[in-house]
Amino acid sequence: MSLPQTQQQWQALAEALSIRNLAFIDGRFTAAASGKTFECVNPATGRVIANVAETDAEDVDRAVTAAREAFENRRWAGQPPVARKAVLRRLAGLIREHAGELAALETLDMGKPVAESSTIDIPSAAATFDWYAEAIDKVYGETAPTGDDVLATVTREPLGVVAAVVPWNFPLKMAGWKVAPALAAGNSVILKPAEQSPLTAIRLAELAMEAGLPEGVLNVLPGFGPTTGKALGLHRDVDAIGFTGSTEVGKLFLQYAGQSNMKRVGLECGGKSPNIVLADAPDLDAAAAAAAQGIFLNQGEVCTAGSRLIVEASVHETLIERVVEHARARTPGDPLDPATRLGAMVDDDQMQRVLDYIEVGRGEGATVATGGRRAREDSGGFFIEPTVFDGVGNHMRIAREEIFGPVLATIPVADAEEAVRVANDTQYGLAAAVWTRDINRAHRISRALRAGMVWVNCYDDDDITVPFGGYKQSGMGRDKSLHALEKYTELKTTWIALGE
Ligand code: NAD
Repeated sequence: MSLPQTQQQWQALAEALSIRNLAFIDGRFTAAASGKTFECVNPATGRVIANVAETDAEDVDRAVTAAREAFENRRWAGQPPVARKAVLRRLAGLIREHAGELAALETLDMGKPVAESSTIDIPSAAATFDWYAEAIDKVYGETAPTGDDVLATVTREPLGVVAAVVPWNFPLKMAGWKVAPALAAGNSVILKPAEQSPLTAIRLAELAMEAGLPEGVLNVLPGFGPTTGKALGLHRDVDAIGFTGSTEVGKLFLQYAGQSNMKRVGLECGGKSPNIVLADAPDLDAAAAAAAQGIFLNQGEVCTAGSRLIVEASVHETLIERVVEHARARTPGDPLDPATRLGAMVDDDQMQRVLDYIEVGRGEGATVATGGRRAREDSGGFFIEPTVFDGVGNHMRIAREEIFGPVLATIPVADAEEAVRVANDTQYGLAAAVWTRDINRAHRISRALRAGMVWVNCYDDDDITVPFGGYKQSGMGRDKSLHALEKYTELKTTWIALGE
């Protein structure tokens, strides 16, 4: 399907959208049991675009019952693998068919530029469903190397009811990273989108039904974390949680599991990722462009954001000049304008939080090389200028805490050894990068970096085939690749004693 090309065309598409605003339980749209709703606000204008069903513990019970029933009936897991593959592939096709609508919805709901939602979020969600669909009839079990009188098989079985609790920064993409492998493995799923961005998740449930997913297999509960999210975490009939969000809430899910049924918990949490540029970087222009993209993509609301730029002293001045040029070229603009490269922060709270951090950075003695203020205030939206701090010390709060906004902390270092020490001096370990033309150095440094993903001479490059997740307090378990299936399956050993 061809996508709109101009701001006017995207605007027209956005105005024509018919927005679904209900929960989706057991194959049907439904209001919350309490009848309550919450306002969904367009971050680019501050205006309400929908009133969405506000589910709570009672709706969680309804959804878990429906999901459990669908699982016990083997309505989904019991279908032949090729049939399940066909359903998920149809869903991927429907996401592509509705790409314009979904991209507009994502942009209206969370403020990201349509240039990104239409080229990153939606295509990537479709590709994820396609990839796990294809995995369904290609992943084999094992036969263990036991003796002649035994046949021992090792097979993967679905867990049962999986709850996916996701954040607002890439709403449909993050939902896909959980829902696609969980469904591919044969589970029933309950998806709880973030309260800031429920709209594409609701639409996904409808498209999944259209693709032929049986009733009760995918349920969507819009609602708040401390109510719906917590009720899912504590529910004794939920077998696993696939969580992406902050480290703070990730730790709560570990507690919920301990207080209830010891459900499996997969956590993809925060980051404060170091991007190391050494004096022998092969191309400083490319490093500067990637550093800017690494922190300003999606307004910096990215778990892998390269928020600490660690630079060897001799190239520091040149690099920062170029990064500042890139920052200034990203004037915040209307997210529905395809030329816009920096959209709105997801809500007023997040904007205030980021502005507070900018003040903290100034107070700590770091220098603002560019940006540092709210932008486009007349629009009613929540925009912030792309901001680059220079002269940051790794002890400062702006170098230690996840800001989740377009704010770069530049940390000058004397040499590669100090760069690695500073890079690893963090509670997080999601991603890291190093720029050097020396292959031996690149290997040694990437081994020394304590992070789930290390990029060499690039930043944020990505593919569904590689695992995604972090060390330390960035989480546990991996999304993407076949490894994601480990989070949503049990390994079963069947030991068959062979008679005469
Ligand atoms: P968040 O932790 O506030 O919320 C994430 C989800 O948890 C939401 O659905 C929310 O409703 C729910 N939640 C909130 N409080 C809860 C509670 N008390 N009990 C149960 N559920 C609760 O995170 P966010 O602000 O939506 O997203 C930003 C965070 O997500 C950042 O820290 C970012 O690094 C992280 N993130 C990580 C990855 C990754 O793959 N590692 C990817 C994207 C975002």
